[in-house]
Amino acid sequence: MSRILIAEDETRIASFVERGLNANGFTATVVTDGVSALDLALSGNFDLLVLDIGLPGADGFTVLRRLRKARGSLPVIILTARDSVIDTVAGLESGADDYMSKPFRFEELLARIRLRLRDERSPEVTVLRNGDLSLDLRTRRAAVDGRTVDLTAREFVLAETFLRNPGQVLSREQLLSHVWGYDFDPGSNVVDVYVRYLRRKLGTARIETVRGMGYRFVDQPVRPLIADDTAGRSRGG
Ligand code: CA
Repeated sequence: MSRILIAEDETRIASFVERGLNANGFTATVVTDGVSALDLALSGNFDLLVLDIGLPGADGFTVLRRLRKARGSLPVIILTARDSVIDTVAGLESGADDYMSKPFRFEELLARIRLRLRDERSPEVTVLRNGDLSLDLRTRRAAVDGRTVDLTAREFVLAETFLRNPGQVLSREQLLSHVWGYDFDPGSNVVDVYVRYLRRKLGTARIETVRGMGYRFVDQPVRPLIADDTAGRSRGG
């Protein structure tokens, strides 16, 4: 299990990232100032650092420079203000491996974290399966019982979030921050609308409404595709 250190002084963003990472099987720890960030980053207890640039104590650039001086290789993803090209360039020159500009969607950060950690881990899962549903994360294609289903980009991310957390109740707020980002209006009914779209495309019974709590993706054993008897039919790739 990978341990992620989050150095971010904005509570809303820190807890959004922390909850998301914990829900995805990481162990996340939050610090809110640069001095603690450097201390913990140097402790050897973490596999990756998500580092905000604007931190009290010591800013992200200082943390990064000292970290790189002291201990080569901890992967670092910096968080920069929106469109701050100068921050981004300076961050990468100071030794960051990657960056996210705020505001960002959690799924984007997660993808970058996974990418950075991939080398030391078992091969990346590229197809998620549940029951007769499969999502190919590389081609961004969904299939039910071997038949391709057209999902929009947002529907795909929502489906992916459900498939990564089968059987768990996910609140509207969790889904909203996960799929739409933390800047989205919490009063919006966009989650309900998109769940409806997904049910229409993937089958109604797959996603349960848990009254007053949110939605749950019904966990089903994976049904392997059995080659049908229709001779000569191409199954495609
Ligand atoms: Ca900040």
